[in-house]
Amino acid sequence: MQNHAGEHIVSGLIHQKYGFDNVGFHMGSDGITLDINGELTKEQVEAIEEEANRAVQDNIPIQVTIPAKDVLKQMDYRSKKALEGDVRIVEIPGIDVCACCGTHPLKTGEIHLIKILSLQNYKGGGRILMVAGMRALADYAGKHESIIEISHLLSAKTGEVCEAVSRLQKENADLKFRLVRMKKELLAVKAENFGADKDVICVQEPDLNGNELREYANLLIQKAKRVLVLSDGGDDRWRYVLADGNGKAKELGAEIQTLFDGKGGGSPAMIQGTMTGTFKDIQQWIETHL
Ligand SMILES: [Zn+2]
Repeated sequence: MQNHAGEHIVSGLIHQKYGFDNVGFHMGSDGITLDINGELTKEQVEAIEEEANRAVQDNIPIQVTIPAKDVLKQMDYRSKKALEGDVRIVEIPGIDVCACCGTHPLKTGEIHLIKILSLQNYKGGGRILMVAGMRALADYAGKHESIIEISHLLSAKTGEVCEAVSRLQKENADLKFRLVRMKKELLAVKAENFGADKDVICVQEPDLNGNELREYANLLIQKAKRVLVLSDGGDDRWRYVLADGNGKAKELGAEIQTLFDGKGGGSPAMIQGTMTGTFKDIQQWIETHL
């Protein structure tokens, strides 16, 4: 009843102020959705919510009548379809007049609270999600619990969590940026430590993504004729990049496919993909291929 009557007030006010009709209505687990055949702004909906709650506070008696035909003819009331016979009119004076056969509280004060949760564009009009009464209280309780938990996690006051999250996002972006730079520097130093003029370099390095694997292989191929870089070999399944100074990477890729269940591809100078095997076996294989 609280949600139903709350919907009367919101639809009635929208009709009264903007002339839009409620053209669809659904009572779901999240609340009531009501579809209106016109677009409202966020500010307009906020104003409607405030006015709806003022109507609750005013504790207006909700009147139910079945007017005589001639009286009904003169009445301006909301109705989804043309009605025959006796029409039950539910009136909230000053707010809404609507044909409805549902049950309603005696006074608007019994609705307690009306909260509009969202507004979205829908079929050229708008869709409003709202809750009223005890469901609005439950919604508030759930959100309150969340914000308290978030504020503890962030060590921020409840009114300052948005700023705290923004700060955290910025810090996170800065850290990522620094991490990428430091990783680059580290790989450059590691590559340098291999010395020059090697035949083969086969190396495993944790936590390298595809780009980093390629960059590392590009650095190492300046030190050796052939390079195989492997990363994150959980269950002996590796991401790899193989670079070959003599343009034989694709031929080696075909062998990787057969011997190590390899997937992937690339150019004669460099291939990348995944392969399975122990590091020792892979190392032995690449070193005997000169
Ligand atoms: Zn009703």
